[in-house]
Amino acid sequence: MNEIELERIKQKALDEHIPIIMDDTLEVIEKYLKEKNPTKILEIGTAVGYSAMCFSKYLAENGKIDTIERDEERIQEAKMNIKNVGVEDKINIYEGDAVEILPTLNDKYDMVFIDAAKGKYLFFLKEALRMLNKNGIIFADNILYKGYVMSDYNKHKQRTAVRNLREYIKEVSENPNLETEILEVGDGLAISKIK
Ligand code: SAH
Ligand code: MG
Repeated sequence: MNEIELERIKQKALDEHIPIIMDDTLEVIEKYLKEKNPTKILEIGTAVGYSAMCFSKYLAENGKIDTIERDEERIQEAKMNIKNVGVEDKINIYEGDAVEILPTLNDKYDMVFIDAAKGKYLFFLKEALRMLNKNGIIFADNILYKGYVMSDYNKHKQRTAVRNLREYIKEVSENPNLETEILEVGDGLAISKIK
């Protein structure tokens, strides 16, 4: 893998305000990846492919990442980036809305990374749980959304997203089959493991 190219892609995404995974969030997920070397990862929200390419370093041999993106321009950029970094044999992009694509998937995954429309997190969770292997793990990024989720200030225009993220946290905390931690790294990361 071309790490220099990956670093260039990261810088470009930051310059263009594309919301790529934050360094401290990535560090937490990398710790899991290094320990488990998963075979199949599902990512919801590719953007330009940065997080998927970072994860791909730690896949088991012949492991694969499926990642879903609906924005046509980002899909094209992600494809080019993945090719330039040299990981096209490890990452498959599903093009379209995850709400439509997820119900058509039937693979089993060791890890799911939820990082797309905040209003859909509960739906993504339901689909993730349907496809998660025993011992699987779900990471949900941006779960604390700039601190709004834990504050009682409720008047900002993102309140629908905030309500949805709170419902996600409630659901993963109360689901008797899951063990969940919420970390204040980056924009907030929910980690749910199957018990
Ligand atoms: N995981 C990436 C960042 C993803 S940003 C990284 O860390 O590098 C979130 C992306 O999700 C955006 O590119 C947006 O277009 C996409 N997205 C949002 N809602 C979606 C949906 N319902 N289906 C597919 N993609 C979606
Ligand atoms: Mg994110």
